Amino acid sequence: MQKILIIEDEPNIRELVLYNLNQNGYEGIGAEDGVQGLALAESERPDLILLDIMLPGKNGYDICKELRGKGNKTPIIMLTAKNEEIDKVLGLEFGADDYIAKPFSTRELMARIKAVLRRYDNSTEQVKNGDAQKEIKINDLSINIDSHVVKVAGKTLDLTLKEFDLLRVLAENRGRVMTRDQLLDRVWGFEYFGETRTVDVHVRYLRKKLENDNNEGNYIQTVRGIGYKML
Ligand code: CA
Repeated sequence: MQKILIIEDEPNIRELVLYNLNQNGYEGIGAEDGVQGLALAESERPDLILLDIMLPGKNGYDICKELRGKGNKTPIIMLTAKNEEIDKVLGLEFGADDYIAKPFSTRELMARIKAVLRRYDNSTEQVKNGDAQKEIKINDLSINIDSHVVKVAGKTLDLTLKEFDLLRVLAENRGRVMTRDQLLDRVWGFEYFGETRTVDVHVRYLRKKLENDNNEGNYIQTVRGIGYKML
């Protein structure tokens, strides 16, 4: 049974969602403030987190950033109340996977949960058993994390170290939009903060190298105004 944690201080919403989670075959766990929520997110290892933004103790943005900062990749759907929250969350710069605006119907919420879980399962499925975590396969593309060998349709590519790191980070987060700042942090480190054109230039080179007769290098999608996403 998949476990879903809802961090929400509004008792009515929390109880209603928990009830519906159980009705839909999930194991629901509730937290009423940010501190308890973060603790449960780590100790209970839920399959998905529903995260309110305005919370006593610690807000949803901080919880999200903190979890991602520790390498926790549990899918997160933000529950937003106000328009300005929606604008902020839309960039998903906090590492959330999706958001839903209040008031929402429980039916819509359940559909959203299902979609995010499916997307997450699909992307982790790419990491094959046996040599688990060592190789990522996406269509014709294979990335060997240990040997740094990248192949498209069996042909080995000649990538620089940064190009490899950029490709690896995008592939490990397949389906998720990565902002330029996130990519800078992960690939270049904090000293390059702000030099987001660096990312664009490397993505351009990388695309060129990924091109072949069939795919035309179409693995990396530009998400306008935000960043890039591995398809
Ligand atoms: Ca709240």
